[in-house]
Amino acid sequence: MENQRIVDKDPKLKKDDLIVITGAGGFIAGNLAKHFADKGFTRIRAVDKKPLYEWYLRVPGVESLCMDVSIEENCRRACQGAVEVYNLAADMGGMGFIERFRIECLRSILINTHMIEAAYRAGARRYFFSSSACAYNVLLQQDPNVRGLKESDAYPAMAERGYGWEKLMSEMFCQEYWAERGMKTAIARFHNVYGPHGTWDGGREKAPAALCRKVIEAKDTGKKDITIWGDGHQTRSFTYIADCVKGIDMIVHCDDLIATPINLGSSELVSINELLSKVERIGGVKLRRHYDLDAPRGVAGRNSDNTFIRKVLKWEPGTSLDVGLKATYKWIEKQYAARKKGLRVVE
Ligand code: NAD
Repeated sequence: MENQRIVDKDPKLKKDDLIVITGAGGFIAGNLAKHFADKGFTRIRAVDKKPLYEWYLRVPGVESLCMDVSIEENCRRACQGAVEVYNLAADMGGMGFIERFRIECLRSILINTHMIEAAYRAGARRYFFSSSACAYNVLLQQDPNVRGLKESDAYPAMAERGYGWEKLMSEMFCQEYWAERGMKTAIARFHNVYGPHGTWDGGREKAPAALCRKVIEAKDTGKKDITIWGDGHQTRSFTYIADCVKGIDMIVHCDDLIATPINLGSSELVSINELLSKVERIGGVKLRRHYDLDAPRGVAGRNSDNTFIRKVLKWEPGTSLDVGLKATYKWIEKQYAARKKGLRVVE
């Protein structure tokens, strides 16, 4: 990158330094707030536009604000006094959502545009942006037997329409706030994050949660049929939530990764058919599979090349799909049972 800067050393982050996290009513940012609270940070400000009642995780002791951070003045309020800012707010969902609502996805550009400026004005030391594997060139993802995507594969750019382009543009903001203004930014490209406390119903859920729910539903209703989106041969890697939050923390605090997009994803590649077989094994059931070839299916194959993260952090997301899926299935099963009883659940 041009405008190379010298990285000056930060003072050590104090336990009472203010950490601001947006999107914290949602899946990953909610878990991130808990991660920092568990580490002993005492001033965490969590922000989301959803009413507090609908947040997936409410972490005791965390200041929780209901605000829309696509509005500039709300971003200024959110960032007041911040030492670190983690922007994970975005209008997003699984394939069904991002293929159908491209305008909503593109509009998330307002969130990062205002948040990064507000963080800069507030004098924040570090700023994190949650990018996505959808920022990669789609032409490299037309075969289920993909090679892993490495960081340089985002350019020449041919990102996923809507959602992917928003991510790529917002990454560029992060790079330029470092190059032109010297604010330390960090960018992780997440690959399909899943786990407890995520969306599992309602249209925004992703494949692991959707398949767990469908298997649980089939067992409950006795209807042993399942509909899979696409032909089931499409491949993906799935990243467990605990690895994701640990990775964010490591990436943000690594001076070698300033303004440098990096994959944060598992490299355990599976087809959707294989993913379903794993869920069936956990549920102890075998279903008749039907394939909906007209449903949204996304790219044919996508995996994370972890050469770079292994080199820089000497670490990569390592929770196996079998372990992560078991925990996810168990959690969704509980949610499903609670909803059946008419209790409030995360949708
Ligand atoms: P999520 O939908 O559970 O959480 C996003 C949260 O952002 C939601 O609670 C939503 O209400 C909030 N939000 C949306 N617009 C807002 C606004 N204008 N003001 C305030 N809050 C707003 O999604 P997630 O899975 O936790 O994703 C978090 C981030 O990670 C997003 O930026 C997403 O694009 C990115 N990401 C996620 C995945 C994944 O697999 N989950 C993959 C790649 C990238």
